[in-house]
Amino acid sequence: MIPEPQIVPDLIDAFRRSKTMFTAVELGVFEATPITAASFSALARSDERATELLLDACVSLGLLTKTDGEYTNTPEAETYLKRTSPHTLAGYALYSNNVLWRLWDRLPDAVREGTHRWPQAFGMQGPIFSHFFKTDEAMRTFLTGLHGFGMLSSPQAIAAHDLSGVEHFVDLGGGTGHLALAFLDKYPNAKATVFDLPQVIPLTREITENRVATIAGDFFHDPLPPADCYAVARILHDWSLPKIQTLLTRIHQALPANGRLLICEMLVNDARTGPTRSLMQSLNMLTCTEGQERTAAEYDQICRAAGFRTTSAVITGAPVDAVLAIK
Ligand code: SAM
Repeated sequence: MIPEPQIVPDLIDAFRRSKTMFTAVELGVFEATPITAASFSALARSDERATELLLDACVSLGLLTKTDGEYTNTPEAETYLKRTSPHTLAGYALYSNNVLWRLWDRLPDAVREGTHRWPQAFGMQGPIFSHFFKTDEAMRTFLTGLHGFGMLSSPQAIAAHDLSGVEHFVDLGGGTGHLALAFLDKYPNAKATVFDLPQVIPLTREITENRVATIAGDFFHDPLPPADCYAVARILHDWSLPKIQTLLTRIHQALPANGRLLICEMLVNDARTGPTRSLMQSLNMLTCTEGQERTAAEYDQICRAAGFRTTSAVITGAPVDAVLAIK
């Protein structure tokens, strides 16, 4: 008796579903609806027959509905794929299409050599964030893409641990400030600061509308602003273990006794066999950074090596989980 084949054809097809959605986002389908295929092909200057194939495929994927030849966004596409939606993930879809797609194309070489694919896929050398931030537009696409996922996950990450009593929350590499904003929503009497590279800070100010303080700097080299709680959200998974140790040791030294560190990352289970989302993210980090995703036990070990006395991990059910370390 041979097993049902379904998992294999499904995975053979999986990239087609992603690419269909990416193409619809890139061509601006979700901003143009309600619209017919003929009108959209005139607007997008695309082939009418091919446009209809794309739009019908989007219907089958649950991104559009079709009535009398007119296509309309489903609630999911309206909320998460339309670029003007406050919850949009269009930035991350575009980033996946334009950048990650090409890096993942080289995954076999990443596995053979154990390194990211920026040089091979884009001909780029140098530090990883010089690739993510090659131009101001590339930086915005990347960080606003992360912002969409941050809006989904930061309230749960903040709610995962009791942060009452914190007076100054400093989000290191805080990007667009979604975590700092979620912290202030829950603890309105505290102060929150985003610390990030100088080129990021104008975007942080724009998106947070100056509701959080900002400091430009390099967390590996510059003094860290005094705080009784630091956060690193989707930061540790970017870096090699020696760099993580440098950063965590600096954070530990800057904290007062009993000071806290909130780590937001996707956790891998102890057997390292799931969840699939975390393992896919780990391969993603292989293609574009020096890092990977880790288990709660690994974060505990890393934090203790930097001097923290205890950690606790919470699976949030959101796109990031939350580990709290105490000095
Ligand atoms: N924490 C944000 C989030 O969850 O959306 C952004 C995460 S993004 C993967 C990494 C962030 O680290 C970027 O905002 C980047 O500018 C920042 N970063 C990278 N290297 C840094 C450094 N040496 N010092 C300060 N920030 C840095």
